[in-house]
Amino acid sequence: MRFVRNVGWPESLKRLIAAANRRPFRRRKIAAAALGIAGGAAIAVAIVVKPAGFETQETQETVAPWDLLPAAKTRHATQHTAEAPAKSLALPLTRISVQTAPPTIIERHVEIAPGDTLMAVMLRSGSDRSTAHAAIVALTKSYDPRRLRPGQELTLLFDPMAARDGDPALIQLAFAPSVEQEIHVSLNDAGRFISKTIDKPLETSLHRAEGSIDDSLYLAAKRSGMPARMIVELIRIYSFDVDFQRDIQRGDRFEVLFEALYDERGEFAKYGDIQYAMLHVRKTDLPLYRFAMKDGEVDYFNNGGHSVRKALMKTPIDGARLTSRFGRRRHPILGYRKMHRGIDFGAPRGTPIMAAGNGVVEVAGWNGGYGRYLRIRHNGRYKTAYGHLSKFRRGIRKGKRVKQGQIVAYVGSTGRSTGPHLHYEVLVNNKRINPLRLKLPTGRKLKGRELARFQEVRGVTEKKFAATPAITRLAESR
Ligand SMILES: [Zn+2]
Repeated sequence: MRFVRNVGWPESLKRLIAAANRRPFRRRKIAAAALGIAGGAAIAVAIVVKPAGFETQETQETVAPWDLLPAAKTRHATQHTAEAPAKSLALPLTRISVQTAPPTIIERHVEIAPGDTLMAVMLRSGSDRSTAHAAIVALTKSYDPRRLRPGQELTLLFDPMAARDGDPALIQLAFAPSVEQEIHVSLNDAGRFISKTIDKPLETSLHRAEGSIDDSLYLAAKRSGMPARMIVELIRIYSFDVDFQRDIQRGDRFEVLFEALYDERGEFAKYGDIQYAMLHVRKTDLPLYRFAMKDGEVDYFNNGGHSVRKALMKTPIDGARLTSRFGRRRHPILGYRKMHRGIDFGAPRGTPIMAAGNGVVEVAGWNGGYGRYLRIRHNGRYKTAYGHLSKFRRGIRKGKRVKQGQIVAYVGSTGRSTGPHLHYEVLVNNKRINPLRLKLPTGRKLKGRELARFQEVRGVTEKKFAATPAITRLAESR
């Protein structure tokens, strides 16, 4: 883990706040140095295409009125650099002077529309079919074009000097499938398209958030300037240990050290991991440190090197009230006494529901009195079920693998229900048991050398935390 702060605090803070507020517009400049292949002759001339300013809009998934976004889906435009391999201009000067006007590379930006194929986009942007086909064939060597999604931007370079039927010929196709990667498909000297993947290094900068909890951890963290994506992560890592509804009291405190990643030009790219977090609840400090074990697995550990992770979360929802417990009760709709084989959490419609553990979706559909219903099989022994949902998260269907803490559905009031709430069940060997009584084995405990290494990492993390100013204070002094 690199600890780099490549930009001065006020600037990096401004960017962080801007990202957290999801400002709709970002302005980027594009500078591309392109390789021009003049008229098929082996004359290579390096040309710089004029920087063109353009704007992109950050889009985000809308998740009901609730503002808890798992990963506010931001699309970041990235710099497209058509890199020209250094070529020696080993030709007689007289030959160059023969060329009257310098060739100009034409740069076009196109966006993939819903239902588009890459071929269709390329034809639309002015490429001829056989050249587009050759470029796509080359691309498939490093990237499956079917992975391209609507909204993906493509940069195409055309050379008027290498015209085909009078139209400028395509010489490069480039796009950034992620903030860390660019794919360039360029014409080489032999007139063949070659695809290459360029990894773009991102630099990690640390940010610190802290505050006191007056209502919910979510709202307190939000007030502290923490981005929603990091708050969800914070809730997830404490969800094994803390019952957010019963354990947290007014005046409890939290602190977090989290990463934000910037590209080589200092532009915000994405959020990273929480390196350290501390909750002061039940008059107890609950610090957690991120640590990568030697088998490559990453987890959060307390001071003593105990992992807090358990197979299942007790409360797969944040900020909800427990409204009905497990056991015999008068049924609110049917009117007679009936066994309630789950627990109910009252929460506004649209509140995100997390998968209580890793597993595979067994049922995602309508199920009688449960209304819209989701069941996840975690292993041979445990399953969890979620009822009265308003909707499933996109992509959640039977057979889908889900990760613990991943948002899978949203609170609703479908089926036999009097108002928006989550009906949550834990099944052990297909028998519904009381989730609040659930006893699960605790997670890993670091020993020996690994524990010593963890204590070292913990010390380093604490120093970093002490050295990082809190975003709240800076935001106030802004
Ligand atoms: Zn219920």
